[in-house]
Amino acid sequence: MVLIQRCDSYDKELILEKIKEVFDKNGGIEKYAAPGLNVVIKPNLISKKSPDAAATTHPSIVWAVAKLCKEAGANVIIAESPGGPYEKPYLTGIYKGTGMAQVAEETGALLNYDLTETKVTCEEAKYLKTIGILTPLAQADRIINLCKLKTHGMMVYTGAVKNMFGSIAGLKKAEYHLKMSDYDQFADSIIDIFLQNHVSLNIIDGIVGMHRDGPTNGDPIHTNVLISSENAFEADLAALDVICANPMRVPVFKMAYARGLCGKDCSNIDFGNGLKPEEVKVPEFIVNYNEEFKNLYFKSGPLGKILQKMIRPRPVFNKKLCKACHECEKCCPAKVITVTKENKAQVKLEGCIRCFCCQELCPFKAVTIKKPLINKIAIRSRNK
Ligand code: SF4
Ligand code: SF4
Repeated sequence: MVLIQRCDSYDKELILEKIKEVFDKNGGIEKYAAPGLNVVIKPNLISKKSPDAAATTHPSIVWAVAKLCKEAGANVIIAESPGGPYEKPYLTGIYKGTGMAQVAEETGALLNYDLTETKVTCEEAKYLKTIGILTPLAQADRIINLCKLKTHGMMVYTGAVKNMFGSIAGLKKAEYHLKMSDYDQFADSIIDIFLQNHVSLNIIDGIVGMHRDGPTNGDPIHTNVLISSENAFEADLAALDVICANPMRVPVFKMAYARGLCGKDCSNIDFGNGLKPEEVKVPEFIVNYNEEFKNLYFKSGPLGKILQKMIRPRPVFNKKLCKACHECEKCCPAKVITVTKENKAQVKLEGCIRCFCCQELCPFKAVTIKKPLINKIAIRSRNK
């Protein structure tokens, strides 16, 4: 069952009522939080952005979930591995900047500083059968996944399923990008990582989402919904329907459908007595699809390779905006970025795997994704 609630404000008392309804409709808070249970809340804290930037899960939602779980007697931990290094000072800055430190202070929830990882195994995984994830997530009795509704440069959309990529510690995420640089393979690895985490409940913060150049440098947009479900794939399909996106052009859902983990669209989803996606659609939400050219016309051969090179979207660095902070250099999985003597980031495109981590993590919006004109024409003609 997927619950869609209309909600147009982060007013704490309003959010508290909405989250109470989420628990009630899913069988009661006692299913998720009780004395002796370790409940781990996994928000999206991708970088040190203020809640108004709409890049991270809003603290009002984390506050309401933490408060209700604490009142039910559970031990509550807020855990996340953001985009940068997984180190205590970095985490402290993230917790403060995203409003989580205040949530912890007000609710009694603990902020995770356990920097270890624990090996987990999942037979259903396609590629990543055994991996290391953040220890609190591996040891949780319940995981409550509190994600944000956003676009994503590489994976088109990020919501519930993709949010659990944050269970991989810090810069180790880059290793997954490098090993699985093909978009479909990477999407499959995102699904595997999601399956390795036993998520009990997913709540998508779609009150203010992010469109255009997400997941960090896009524009906030009022989408005015909270979407929740025990089934992350269905919650995401509902969100994609709300923003009028085609799930079969979003790599994670194309691959999840192929693996039999979800439907092609919302047609078989039970929305209970609540709202249906068509009642809350946001047609002005802009999604930038990102199909690789090889999936469009040419699969191989010399001509295909030349055209792929010509047509692939690429990261472009704006010298005027670059502040030489080295973040992109540190996070680039392919190690093709250097900061020059003139204090400007530059990229060697030959080795670039188009993961767009640089665009995602640049704090100064100095990196954009540029699509050559021929790419736009090819994709437009494909969609006719
Ligand atoms: S491009 Fe952005 S992340 Fe890279 S060095 Fe410049 S300011 Fe820092
Ligand atoms: S330059 Fe940017 S897009 Fe290319 S591999 Fe490095 S981080 Fe990824």
